[in-house]
Amino acid sequence: MGFLPFDLDASVTDTPKPTVEWEESNCLLCDGRRWSILVEAPDPAPGCGGFWFAVVQCQDCGLCFTNPRPSPRSIVQFYPDEYLPHHNRPHPGRSWWRSLWPRRRASRARRTVAWHGEGRLLDFGCGGGGFLERMSRAGWQVTGLDLSEAAVERVRSELGLSALAGSLPHPALPEQAFDVITMWQALEHVHRPLDVLRAAHRLLAPGGKLVVEVPNIDSLPFRWFGRGWFGLDLPRHLTHFVPATLTRMLERAGFQPDPVTTLRHSNWLRASARLACRLKGSGLWRGWLRSKVGSGLASWVAHLTGRSDCIRVTAVKAQPGPAAQAEVGRTAGAEAPVRSSRVRRPPGGRFRST
Ligand SMILES: [Zn+2]
Repeated sequence: MGFLPFDLDASVTDTPKPTVEWEESNCLLCDGRRWSILVEAPDPAPGCGGFWFAVVQCQDCGLCFTNPRPSPRSIVQFYPDEYLPHHNRPHPGRSWWRSLWPRRRASRARRTVAWHGEGRLLDFGCGGGGFLERMSRAGWQVTGLDLSEAAVERVRSELGLSALAGSLPHPALPEQAFDVITMWQALEHVHRPLDVLRAAHRLLAPGGKLVVEVPNIDSLPFRWFGRGWFGLDLPRHLTHFVPATLTRMLERAGFQPDPVTTLRHSNWLRASARLACRLKGSGLWRGWLRSKVGSGLASWVAHLTGRSDCIRVTAVKAQPGPAAQAEVGRTAGAEAPVRSSRVRRPPGGRFRST
């Protein structure tokens, strides 16, 4: 599939383009090679070279993913120092990220999980460590993990908490070392999400829980805003989940997922409206959604119809037993075919960006 970077606008045209190492990927869920383009969108961050990226949808299993994409070595340059999730406290000075990012992006509800087991918690993609800090105060034995060495260093020095740089699998983390693993808006950032989930499965004690929260591309906000949808965030978001593909990937990693729930974020809607206005120009509808009243009402419509743009699922590592072990062994095999009953139709009108 061809790919060319396009200029977003004249001001970006003058920005020197960084050297990027590109890679094409097979489907990250079923390893298929048949896909169709769902949407093309620019990197919304200024100073990132004015590249455009494509999100494709696998025609076999329905997974959406960014393809081609910067290699793991190249993706780092798309995370500038002021990238807000890497900071526990607001970055000094006025930053574009602060102007775009919802002020309360993290809902208060998601920031707690019920006590489980011996209270050993790993936060994958811990960023600035805000969640780690809250859970530590609640008595949990916490460890953070993040690709950003700067963010990890801040967690250690500013919060005094344990944190490691890197991804999963990680050589310093032994098997069955945790009772809960959380992935708040993190799984969509990794190049090999299935491998990350399988590593998380090994890290959990029997009966341990994994909590995953990601943007939902099969949402009304994506339909409304298209390439201006805040949840795309290309190229930092590499996998674009919907409830069915998230569930299926968890099952393939050996987990038993609960039903997926949707979360309502009116501030996400306002952020999308601001971005869409910048990319497409402000219209009556997008302008109205920038208001608190408009975004509040629209977010309720999306939530009550089950098409909100944020989804969360809790998945359990089954207690050891003959049946569970057989299931884990089966689903851990990378070559296990996706069952036809789980196959999602290729994108139709409902799922096509405007
Ligand atoms: Zn697939």
